[in-house]
Amino acid sequence: MSKLYALFGGTFDPIHYGHLRPVEALAQQVGLKKVTLLPNNVPPHRPQPEACAQQRVEMLRCAIADRPLFDIDTRELARATPSWTVATLEALRAERGPKQPLGFIIGQDSLLTLAKWHRWQDLLSLCHLLVCKRPGYAAQMETKEMQQWLDEHLADEVQQLHHAPAGHIWLADTPLFDISATEIRQRRHAGISCADLLPDAVIGYIDSVGLYRS
Ligand code: ATP
Repeated sequence: MSKLYALFGGTFDPIHYGHLRPVEALAQQVGLKKVTLLPNNVPPHRPQPEACAQQRVEMLRCAIADRPLFDIDTRELARATPSWTVATLEALRAERGPKQPLGFIIGQDSLLTLAKWHRWQDLLSLCHLLVCKRPGYAAQMETKEMQQWLDEHLADEVQQLHHAPAGHIWLADTPLFDISATEIRQRRHAGISCADLLPDAVIGYIDSVGLYRS
């Protein structure tokens, strides 16, 4: 079995079960031994996360303490510049060599807006895209061109992800979790419980530092 290695980028403000559970299911399906969480640096002109970078990392630590599948890579937070996924993947490709099968995990909503990503057309030369389902987001791409691009790169078999270093898209059959970080922040601000939406350890941290307060 090859060592297909995958990263999962996000703002994680905060991390929740809509991130963790689909990715755990994906890992089972495609045989991932490790998934690296990659917290984003949000560009200054975009709305900033409520939690600072250090707090977002701390929440990731709490979430993965009893989940050995995951680890964390904070390289994007160390940069003063925006987090371009393509640049991070180029760095990883240089570190791990041309043969390493590399996956980048996204939710269906991110797939639908992929054409807005910086140098999106270079992504598949660097990695496979592993896509988790997300409720409320169409299975079809928005334009004929994007649908054609997707169809051309779809993998039919898991083994393709292990045999090639990059170039395939895998639409994983993952469970649906109708959870967003936005909803969690709103519920917290309104004083509504989020008990089933994210791990208790993360909620404990949020409470301890007074994040997302009303
Ligand atoms: P926000 O509500 O603040 O925009 P979010 O909950 O969408 O945040 P992000 O950190 O922006 O979370 O998402 C990181 C990645 O996780 C993206 O690829 C996104 O598509 C995916 N993702 C987030 N929530 C879900 C979910 N409920 N199901 C599947 N994928 C998800």
